[in-house]
Amino acid sequence: MRYSQALLPTLKEIPAEAEVASHRLMLRAGFMRKLTAGIYSYLPYGLAAIRKVENIVREEMNRAGAQELLLPMVQPADLWIETGRYEKYGPELLRFFDRHERESCLGPTHEEVITDIVRKDVHSYRDLPVNLYQIQTKFRDEIRPRFGLMRGREFIMKDAYSFDVSNEAAEASYWKMYEAYKRIFTRCGLKFRAVQADSGTIGGSFSHEFMVLAETGEDTVVFCQDCDYAANMEKAAVSLRKQEKIERLEQLEKIQTPGKRKVDTVCEFLKIAPSQLVKTLVFMADDQPVAVLLRGDRQLEEVKLKNLLGAADVEIAESSQVYDITKVPTGYLGPVGLTIKIVADLEVAAMQNFYVGGNEKNYHMKNVNLGRDFQVDATADLRQITRSDPCPECGGKLKLTEGIEVGHVFKLGTGYSESMEATFQDSDGQDKFFVMGCYGIGISRVVAAAIEQNYDADGIIFPVPLAPYTVIILNLGLKDEKITAAAEHLYRELQRQEIDVLLDDRDERPGSKFKDADLLGIPFRVVVGKSLLNSGLIEMRIRKNGAVEEMTPDKVIPALLSKIADESTEKTDDP
Ligand code: ATP
Ligand code: MG
Repeated sequence: MRYSQALLPTLKEIPAEAEVASHRLMLRAGFMRKLTAGIYSYLPYGLAAIRKVENIVREEMNRAGAQELLLPMVQPADLWIETGRYEKYGPELLRFFDRHERESCLGPTHEEVITDIVRKDVHSYRDLPVNLYQIQTKFRDEIRPRFGLMRGREFIMKDAYSFDVSNEAAEASYWKMYEAYKRIFTRCGLKFRAVQADSGTIGGSFSHEFMVLAETGEDTVVFCQDCDYAANMEKAAVSLRKQEKIERLEQLEKIQTPGKRKVDTVCEFLKIAPSQLVKTLVFMADDQPVAVLLRGDRQLEEVKLKNLLGAADVEIAESSQVYDITKVPTGYLGPVGLTIKIVADLEVAAMQNFYVGGNEKNYHMKNVNLGRDFQVDATADLRQITRSDPCPECGGKLKLTEGIEVGHVFKLGTGYSESMEATFQDSDGQDKFFVMGCYGIGISRVVAAAIEQNYDADGIIFPVPLAPYTVIILNLGLKDEKITAAAEHLYRELQRQEIDVLLDDRDERPGSKFKDADLLGIPFRVVVGKSLLNSGLIEMRIRKNGAVEEMTPDKVIPALLSKIADESTEKTDDP
């Protein structure tokens, strides 16, 4: 591509609305433009990066035996009603009526549509397994779209669905995808980890997320420093440490805590540690109130609560809601005498003589004991793991880091096939439900994640496999015949070698050409300028480490080809 003819609008200013590096750099490097909240137009440069990811994904999915198809974005509500998800999916599902008053939605994911196809067109065990995938635009009306392509409302996803005859076969399909994902993210040049993920109420360990390790990640990943354990924090189970039992249960007492409503201020006032206090939080779980008891210094893991309650949605209740339900002002709620559903974290169940809210303004209670003073409906692991907890698998030391979820593999089982009555005839002549799996990759998010891992003060530093252009040639002597001829020659030659190359033939100052080349993050920069005239040399620079070499024109192409080969993450021969 000739820069003079490209729509590649780079920005000097730092866009104010962008909070993270990838978002800022994608706007500055002319990747995309925002149309409205969470919805972007991909400009040619951004689309080229997306295509690079798509091609790697396609090659590896095909190699793993999956077949590409393309499903509609608009889906009839009826299909979603069959699986019960029309109700359950919540406001992320954009619903609308067409001119015939038929209710529809925009696809946030395609389990229903694909299961409908397979139930109609796949009939026998002989046709299985089948794994179908697409690369397509999804719509999710995210409550907080942010960070540009990282969390959009409209975004590009690769979604695959496998159908198998049995559990064992489905597990084999699962691990095949797991391996394909490892190859995909390795080929993208990303630093990533596969971690155990929450699989909701289905249970089991058959869900892994692929996390790109980057500070701006919205997920927290827990690693063990002594064994292979790695999990999303949502999933990481906290084992209860041995607690010293105090033999004597002391007398329950109501104590004054005037105006003290927060854990810290109550503890300061009473001169106790937050670990001696139990906080009572009220959540609305699918519109039903539930009180959650946690030690004062702990954080709730909402996913664990959701799983315990089997709820589609849990949300912290507003103060006014809590007051309406309990008649207790904020900050003074406690479990003694509370009549709504109560669930307690494991740790609380093991505490004795603790402090709680007094269920009356300006009061707390001391020497409270579960069992004697109040009952709970359930005790379970509900809190977030911390770095000082032991590894759930080996008891070793944990490390917590941020990660960006770029992919997710999930064994679904027969949930969808049962609710949609999708069956095949097995070898024994019996009709059986397909055993399913689903596998997603956030294509547009991968590009953002790659930038989060690869940038500096001057701009993006693309890994070669994702770079829209591998080489940029700067012609710094547009009016000089010799310089222009050399630049044009290199441009044609690289094109002939099928290297993606951008020729900066704009009538711009050298300074701004250098700046743009750095901002765009193109891995190799070739400068054809004065030194060609003075000493017959052309400069080659590697964006990643700033290494510069000068060479005669005939050496440039071989040098580039060998450097590109070193940096490429070629596909290996066998899966
Ligand atoms: P998240 O927890 O980040 O919302 P999810 O669990 O909803 O993700 P999946 O339904 O598993 O995501 O979707 C598959 C993949 O699609 C994710 O791994 C992620 O890479 C990508 N993805 C999901 N939501 C978005 C979004 N709003 N914008 C961009 N990519 C997304
Ligand atoms: Mg989501």
